[in-house]
Amino acid sequence: MIPKTMRAMVLPHFGAPMELREALVPKIGPGDVLLRVRAAGVGLTVVIMIANPGRVTSFPRIPGHEVAGEVVEIGAEVANVKVGDRVVNHFYLTCGACRFCRSGRETLCTAFKGYVGQASDGGYAEYMRLPARNVTVIPPGVSDVDAAVATDAIATPYHACREEARVGPGDSVLIVGAGGGVGIHGVQMAKLCGGWVVAADVTDEKLAAARHAGADAVVDARQGDLAALVKRATDGRGVDAAIDFFGSRETLQGALGSLARAGRLVIIGSRPAAVFGADPSFVVDPQRMLYDMLEIHGSRYVTLTEISQTLELIRQGRISPVVSKHFPLESAEEAHELLRTNAIPGRAALVLEG
Ligand SMILES: [Zn+2]
Repeated sequence: MIPKTMRAMVLPHFGAPMELREALVPKIGPGDVLLRVRAAGVGLTVVIMIANPGRVTSFPRIPGHEVAGEVVEIGAEVANVKVGDRVVNHFYLTCGACRFCRSGRETLCTAFKGYVGQASDGGYAEYMRLPARNVTVIPPGVSDVDAAVATDAIATPYHACREEARVGPGDSVLIVGAGGGVGIHGVQMAKLCGGWVVAADVTDEKLAAARHAGADAVVDARQGDLAALVKRATDGRGVDAAIDFFGSRETLQGALGSLARAGRLVIIGSRPAAVFGADPSFVVDPQRMLYDMLEIHGSRYVTLTEISQTLELIRQGRISPVVSKHFPLESAEEAHELLRTNAIPGRAALVLEG
């Protein structure tokens, strides 16, 4: 039986902390599914986005964009999943019909409707409504928590390493923000693709986590110029690819400066000036771009198919999700506070009982 009300962590208005509230269980439309939420990833993505004016389109709003749950109800037109399936969600509300959606690049959708947890209610609740085209089934043997964080924290590095940085055997790869919730899986993914990984971060705990995740060399970015430190770690050669999960002016400049000839810089981390008070713009020397044939790629999330492929890597045991802290639903605000103070290596997750 689906109850009428549920417990949810709600953003009452912009800038306010979340409150535990009794909310109505969402009603679904013909193309929707209703999930009983089992686990929701908690990461800086949510913390940054809800602090960025205009991203949450209306209040009150339930955040949460990395969700695993059980399908408890489906709309009349839904054919891709059935009641009882365990599924995870795609984070973007796309049209499915534009040229980008139809060519496997749905994160560039020209009729984009916004983000789960911002333009629609997310997974910090006992139940959640989603368009059925936003969900894919979790393979047996993959836990709810691992599957939840796979949808962004692991799938995003999968896309970045494979499609943007094009990491292959013999490539050296710099991961900036290597101890964070997404970066820690970037280290593993770059290794899985055959890369020799230099991990950069700024706390002892995160550097240790990156080393534990398989980094071949570790750079403490507190110790000076990032590019110089990376050059030293690579015998002066630089790296074939640099993936920046942090995205400040300093890290982007350092990552670009770390590239060897024909190197690829991949930008994933987002530090909007409206949230961080600092402009992340960096300087690009066109002469060097030209003569060294450098590439700069923006890497925007993943496709639903890439989420399925990531789940399969977890099922095969070739990627180990790093979820260092579990919280109950009502402690979501505490988890956000720990992320704001940079105190959680790897990912955190809300785990819902029952
Ligand atoms: Zn589209």
